[in-house]
Amino acid sequence: MQRTLIPCPFCGSQQAKLSYPQRCVKCAECGTCGPTGETAEQGARLWNHRATVPAYHPTAPLGLIGGH
Ligand SMILES: [Zn+2]
Repeated sequence: MQRTLIPCPFCGSQQAKLSYPQRCVKCAECGTCGPTGETAEQGARLWNHRATVPAYHPTAPLGLIGGH
């Protein structure tokens, strides 16, 4: 059964593919790797979940997050 993967949340590409050895989804367009699951199926689920929540920016200065 083929799980439907939503487009890449970073570049919008439909070229996100489930990578079985790594158990995560990788975008062929920008190279983004989704969260690694315990199984490939879980990796796909995490990818779809992550893409529906606001993008997390690990490089954003802390002062911009939750500041008053
Ligand atoms: Zn991408």
